[in-house]
Amino acid sequence: MPARTVLQQPDITRALTRISHEILEANRGPEGLVILGIPTRGVVLADRIGRLVSEFSGRPVPIGSIDVTMYRDDLASNPTRVPSPTRIPAGGIDGRTVVLVDDVLFSGRTIRAALDALSDQGRPRAVRLATLVDRGHRELPIRPDFVGKNLPSALSERINVRLMETDGAEAVSIEDL
Ligand code: 5GP
Ligand code: MG
Repeated sequence: MPARTVLQQPDITRALTRISHEILEANRGPEGLVILGIPTRGVVLADRIGRLVSEFSGRPVPIGSIDVTMYRDDLASNPTRVPSPTRIPAGGIDGRTVVLVDDVLFSGRTIRAALDALSDQGRPRAVRLATLVDRGHRELPIRPDFVGKNLPSALSERINVRLMETDGAEAVSIEDL
């Protein structure tokens, strides 16, 4: 079956704009926020959300990335994975409210690994989770605080997320593999 487009460029922009407002509302402003993306596309989304949150609040909000490769529980079966850089903004994460950002939330294992990776960087006051797509099928007690689109999917399906910075195009589609 051909891929079915579920979000087009304006939908993605709207979703990220809404998420950015929701982050500010939940945090009662930008105070103490740190936005961290999970490579690869989570970093792109964190950059965009971080810029929007800074713009809407009129205060620069620190943005960075957290690599989870070495913290995965399936590392033994995927030993060739190449780590991406972790960039923790100056000021660190101690006592801050960290918003983790990823493109697709599935089993929850990546976020579990990210929580482990975070605890090696410091002790945030709170950790929240933003995802562009929640496709369901959680295997761990993890839920997102901010969601672009809930997209119930079959296990046989795959969500394609394309972003201008990484893919030269902007769309989310669902495809039966
Ligand atoms: P999880 O660890 O929750 O099972 O999977 C989430 C991670 O795997 C995310 O970093 C996401 O990028 C990737 N992922 C899982 N399923 C999909 C999918 O259907 N489409 C895309 N684009 N990424 C996925
Ligand atoms: Mg990913």
